Amino acid sequence: MLRSADLLELGVNADEIRKKLHPESIVTFVVDRNINYTNVCINKCRFCAFWRDADSPEAYLLDKDTLFKKIEETIALGGTQILLQGGLHPSLNIDYYKDLLRSIKERFEINIHGFSPPEICYIADSADITLRETLGLLNEAGLDSMPGGGAEILSDRVREILSPKKIRSARWLEVMETAHTLGMKTTATMMFGSIEKPEDIIIHLDSIRELQDRTGGFTAFIPWSFQPGNTELKNKKAQGKTGKDKAYKAGNLPETVEYPATAVDYLRVLAISRIYLDNIENIQASWVTQGLKMAQVALRFGANDFGSTMIEENVVASTGVSYCVSKEDIVCAIRSAGFKPVQRDTCYNLIREY
Ligand code: SF4
Repeated sequence: MLRSADLLELGVNADEIRKKLHPESIVTFVVDRNINYTNVCINKCRFCAFWRDADSPEAYLLDKDTLFKKIEETIALGGTQILLQGGLHPSLNIDYYKDLLRSIKERFEINIHGFSPPEICYIADSADITLRETLGLLNEAGLDSMPGGGAEILSDRVREILSPKKIRSARWLEVMETAHTLGMKTTATMMFGSIEKPEDIIIHLDSIRELQDRTGGFTAFIPWSFQPGNTELKNKKAQGKTGKDKAYKAGNLPETVEYPATAVDYLRVLAISRIYLDNIENIQASWVTQGLKMAQVALRFGANDFGSTMIEENVVASTGVSYCVSKEDIVCAIRSAGFKPVQRDTCYNLIREY
């Protein structure tokens, strides 16, 4: 199917499954803000344009006042959630994270959707405690649910090239399973369109499907395509430069990406995700990487959710891809695609119809 199925047939099949799961013809979205508390990260993934070294002039760690102000603005705009994510900062420990969560919860009534599995593992390893203990402590301090970031492709062959320092697939799945058994809901993501093969995508979908069968803890699946701008993985020829990149010289694989995923690739992967993951209720369209117009088309290829309004977004924007979109734009895009726009909360409870 990934290699050769007819695209429109895939779309029809995915749309049928979407209709069975969501017969009411609504498309949901959440009003939230991405707060990236730091861009300092020791992992230095090759597909990421966001990270900085601790001594870079562009490195930052948000202070509490700035963070609180961002949350106040989010609530004023009708926001119900903050997505709190950052790099793996070598100077932060579990006490920092517990204090941060507590101080937010003391001041605001807002869902904290935070810390993807690589951050959780980093916090656990620095504190020398188990994943279960770490998640339990963070949950107690105010962490409500978790985003499915850091998955990229759950195939270690690919991870060794894309992000050699990042946690491997089994560990990503272990964090999610532990969170689910503690009662925390999470999403799952997949970044495709870099150096993976169709088989790697199937391994990824299968791992997510298998875990979902056991725990039921994933609320949504979000496939999005690699954005090469400003990343080490971008083909050097495409940047008008010659020579091998640093990772290649260091003995890693020489693969770079010359042609990122097209709109057709996106729709194909999206439709197959809807078909394969029929045990996950919601599939998100990624307007952040595809733009609003493609996100509208995605609603006929299996997606039933527009994700977040993202009052602020920094990670994809670092690659040079940035769509300026308001809540009104999202409402209008959903309506003109033939669906009823409805604001939801993190757990997909419906809040307000438009
Ligand atoms: S993707 Fe995440 S873990 Fe990798 S370098 Fe970027 S911020 Fe760090």
